[in-house]
Amino acid sequence: MRKAEDILALKGVKPTAVRLNLLEFLLEQDKALSLKEMEIGLLHMDRSSIFRSLKSFEEYKLIHSINDGTGMTKYAVCAEGCNCELEDLHYHFYCTSCEKTFCLMDHPIPSIILPKNFKMTDANMVIKGLCDQCNK
Ligand SMILES: [Zn+2]
Ligand SMILES: [Zn+2]
Ligand SMILES: [Zn+2]
Repeated sequence: MRKAEDILALKGVKPTAVRLNLLEFLLEQDKALSLKEMEIGLLHMDRSSIFRSLKSFEEYKLIHSINDGTGMTKYAVCAEGCNCELEDLHYHFYCTSCEKTFCLMDHPIPSIILPKNFKMTDANMVIKGLCDQCNK
């Protein structure tokens, strides 16, 4: 597993205690988390410091946000070398049973040919179904 300290150093983010704690917590997850879930997992941290750190992580392209259709924005740590640009976009998987959202990092969004003069700026590709745990 990548270390929180190394990631912050690599991206040039000042390693405050709050940021280190939050990033370590996010790295332990196998799924994307909502702000609410982070608050529950990090009871010693208050909501506004979690939120502020999230915003700076997003700004420095350490994490990306995911709209999985549940109405709750979720966040996941970016892959190494991600610049959060169009070519870094990947599919996400939402389990309709346990309601977890996973990054499918190995599945980038394919480039499609758009109508003339149309320009892509973002894409939100979510596959729904059952994760390995729920499909047993
Ligand atoms: Zn990214
Ligand atoms: Zn599941
Ligand atoms: Zn993702």
